[in-house]
Amino acid sequence: MKTSSLPVAIIGAGPVGLAAAAHLLRRGETPLVLEAGPLVGTSILQWGHVRLFSPWRYLIDPEAAALLETTGWSAPDPAGYPTGLELVEQYLLPLAAVPQMQAALWPSTRVVTVARAGFDKMKTPGREHAPFVLRVQTSEGMERDVLARAVIDASGTYSQPNPLGANGTFALGERVLHNAIFYGIPDVRGRNRERYAGRRVLVVGSGHSAFNALLDLVQLSEQFPSTQVVWAIRRQDTLQLFGGGESDGLPARGQLGQRIRDLVERESLRLATKVSIGALARTPEGIVIQGEEERIGPVDEIIATTGFRPDLSLVRNSGSLLIRVLKARWHLLRSLIPMCIAVERFPHTAWRNSPIPSRISISSG
Ligand SMILES: Cc1cc2nc3c(=O)[nH]c(=O)nc-3n(C[C@H](O)[C@H](O)[C@H](O)COP(=O)(O)OP(=O)(O)OC[C@H]3O[C@@H](n4cnc5c(N)ncnc54)[C@H](O)[C@@H]3O)c2cc1C
Repeated sequence: MKTSSLPVAIIGAGPVGLAAAAHLLRRGETPLVLEAGPLVGTSILQWGHVRLFSPWRYLIDPEAAALLETTGWSAPDPAGYPTGLELVEQYLLPLAAVPQMQAALWPSTRVVTVARAGFDKMKTPGREHAPFVLRVQTSEGMERDVLARAVIDASGTYSQPNPLGANGTFALGERVLHNAIFYGIPDVRGRNRERYAGRRVLVVGSGHSAFNALLDLVQLSEQFPSTQVVWAIRRQDTLQLFGGGESDGLPARGQLGQRIRDLVERESLRLATKVSIGALARTPEGIVIQGEEERIGPVDEIIATTGFRPDLSLVRNSGSLLIRVLKARWHLLRSLIPMCIAVERFPHTAWRNSPIPSRISISSG
């Protein structure tokens, strides 16, 4: 079989994977979207309760919108802010139901590895002409190999949270205490309410995920006054901690930071700065967190909002060359995601009007 007749495999059916598929369909290519979860937007559904700080106008890819318009879809108000769940229900699910997209989508299919057919890592001559071979596994555990002429890795980062340890690795005791640690943003006021109401909770991290978790916890503590919230961050000064405020390019993001600043200033929230977590230990009083200089706790629960990283193990065997291309032209990539796009041979600006490069992989940076 000729490599050129093979599909372009896309790993992940989040907003980026589906936008990539829409672009490929528009160019007359055959995408094959492999999604680990049973539904498109599986990762987003894990934080479906969180309202995005980006309005709809930055979330909908133009090629995806063009496909959707053929089905009579009515676009949401461009100035509105969806929750994660609304993003999936009002955009990704209708997009996945467009017949061309539906035909390209393999749900419940996890990509386990990507390699070059017939090439191990040591063999180079002729590698660029060999098709890619993706080992996939269905949710029932069935394995098979799928050939592709190019691969777009749009698997996101949500499944790879950063650990709590100051060295970028697990803190001592962190793995043992995993049942008391939530990586991401729990639905504090909804399905995870019982877990946090009336408990002593430590939130670690200084990004917008931390802000969202903290705001929900403070609201919960108004309902359940015995709920205690401590916020630990690594940095010492708080100058840029709360973001751009009114001058933030995304007003809703600026407001998140402002609301947190108010809570800290009103002392509704205890902030511990310069916390470098080295070890966690369960004591009879609760979990104690040992920093370089400070001891925090005891607490009952920890929420780790310390960011996420791409799963590079997928492409470990493909011999792909990673090049950062920050001037992504796709509307979605530019506006939605801080992206690191790996493209071999083609600068991203050439991508729209040029043949499909043989290897592409996309990962968040
Ligand atoms: C709480 C929260 C709030 C956010 N708010 C905003 C915001 O307001 N504005 C903004 O710009 N960004 C926001 N983001 C970032 C936003 O989620 C991401 O930018 C966006 O979801 C990335 O889309 P994606 O398609 O790259 O990845 P994802 O949405 O993570 O999708 C990746 C998909 O790949 C699938 N997958 C993973 N591994 C495999 C595999 N091995 N095989 C097959 N499938 C796989 C997953 O199941 C998932 O469906 C937010 C993120 C979080 C966590």
